Amino acid sequence: MQKQLLVSDLEGVWISGDIAAQCLPFISNITGHELYRSTFPMLSEWVYNKVLRGDRSILDVGPEVYGGTLRYVAPFIAAYMDEGRLNNLVRESCSLMPDAEKTISYLQSHGFIIYLVSTAYSQQVYLAAKRLGISDERVTCTPLNFSQFSLAGPHTRLDEILDITRVYRDGVNIDGQLTDFFTGLLNTQYGEILTRVNPMGGTRKTDECLKICDQEKVNMDDVFTLGDSVTDGHLEHGISMAFCATRDALKMARTGIVSPTTRKIGSALTNYPDIYEIDGIDDLEELKQHPSNFKALVERHDRMRQRLRGKLGGKI
Ligand SMILES: [Mg+2]
Repeated sequence: MQKQLLVSDLEGVWISGDIAAQCLPFISNITGHELYRSTFPMLSEWVYNKVLRGDRSILDVGPEVYGGTLRYVAPFIAAYMDEGRLNNLVRESCSLMPDAEKTISYLQSHGFIIYLVSTAYSQQVYLAAKRLGISDERVTCTPLNFSQFSLAGPHTRLDEILDITRVYRDGVNIDGQLTDFFTGLLNTQYGEILTRVNPMGGTRKTDECLKICDQEKVNMDDVFTLGDSVTDGHLEHGISMAFCATRDALKMARTGIVSPTTRKIGSALTNYPDIYEIDGIDDLEELKQHPSNFKALVERHDRMRQRLRGKLGGKI
């Protein structure tokens, strides 16, 4: 049997959850850590509300675009959760996409070597990989190490930052000052934690994909890549497929798969039996030449993604 290599994203492809989005409501319900609650209330609320509303400007101007949410949420997790609480949340919310285990097992039995390259936190990714039957050594993700979070350190420029958030809260548009805001933000304790989280996204996913191809001795043109969002840099390589994806991922990929079940991924890669009508495998190279058709396709993907993941899933 010929060896075939699939490098895949996790959230939005094999699991419906979005760990960053799931942490936010949980954190908002906690009345907890006095130091953080007294030091960062406005900043916390400001970033929290922006991210929760799906306002991407904070991600675009901030120090890390790809997987940025994972960084912005991390200080809140450090402040309001511990590893046990995070693990509980992960266990409760790690729901697999329809037919995910069956499709993975089918692909593996047909010679596919499957690697997960995920932006999500390690606690989420290793649990999902276990449920999907993918071994730990084929997993790369964003480590979230609670022992790195320290409550010590000077609150440099905190007042200034809080002043900016106050202005924002009073209804003044601060978008023009966001670069200064983030420069200041990085010098606070919040920023200190933020910079310790290094999300596996964008170009880092691209690099990881190249490393895996090298390791498995598979040509970059022959690797199958799978993802659903802008962080999936590995879609720039190989035979790329976007599943129930955002516009950004569809722009990068060669093939679009929209379906209520992951069986369709199996169909796109092999001749996996497919009995569903509401779905499709589309040649994106062709569709990108026709803007109105491409727009309609993006809307179909959006609708299916919301159906599978809810309104918040994959938005932040
Ligand atoms: Mg994803």
